[in-house]
Amino acid sequence: MQEDSPVQNENTPDTTQTAPPRRTGRRNRLIVLGAAALVALGLGGVAVATSGTDHPAPAAVSLDAQARADSASRADRSVRESSTPVTPSLSPTPSPSAVSASPTPAKTAAAKAKPKPKKTTKPTPAWVDPMPGAAVTSCYGQRWGTLHAGIDLALPSGTPIHAAAAGTVTQAGDASDGYGNSVFIDHGNGYLTHYAHQSRIAVTVGQKVKAGQVIGYEGATGDATGPHLHFEVHQGMWNQIDPAPFMRARGVDLGC
Ligand SMILES: [Zn+2]
Repeated sequence: MQEDSPVQNENTPDTTQTAPPRRTGRRNRLIVLGAAALVALGLGGVAVATSGTDHPAPAAVSLDAQARADSASRADRSVRESSTPVTPSLSPTPSPSAVSASPTPAKTAAAKAKPKPKKTTKPTPAWVDPMPGAAVTSCYGQRWGTLHAGIDLALPSGTPIHAAAAGTVTQAGDASDGYGNSVFIDHGNGYLTHYAHQSRIAVTVGQKVKAGQVIGYEGATGDATGPHLHFEVHQGMWNQIDPAPFMRARGVDLGC
């Protein structure tokens, strides 16, 4: 490389490496080579980056060895001075990025933590439809000269009947007056619900039930022309009120 470069450099006008040793003596040549080596170490990347457009290289060729050595040392120093600030300026850059990077995972962790509270279980409504999806065949009111004291909800026989709200079973069995198999639930707030004409009862007296819990199955026991749930709301035992507005006020639309 050292033997070839001078020859090639004579015909190559631009790069810094061309500067060395044309007509100089061996001693000077060694100095120049040493200086050039220093320059090459410092300027190597710069010379390549600037792709040989710089004029100082041809100018250096015309200078004597000492001048070029001085020039080279200055160049080397200038390169070092210019390159030295670059290195520190680069190191702070990663540092802030590293600092700014560390909060990012923290935020990510916080973001991951946030959705968890959203997964809180949905509370069961205090009041629910005792037989969802049923057709209303009769509402509360006067019917055939007497008071129909409840709402009739029809689905095929055997459809599960749900407690309209949490409470305690006060009666479970065959009731009088044509109700057939009936369940009464006391909700502890002055109101009771009554579920009549059941084909089968699934709870016992004294049992505590939750809203929506199955308490029995639809049937046609007692005075019933067909399978349906006769649903009543009592404001005090045997004081029936219209279940429709009562339930609607509690978020349940029975369709009457
Ligand atoms: Zn009825």
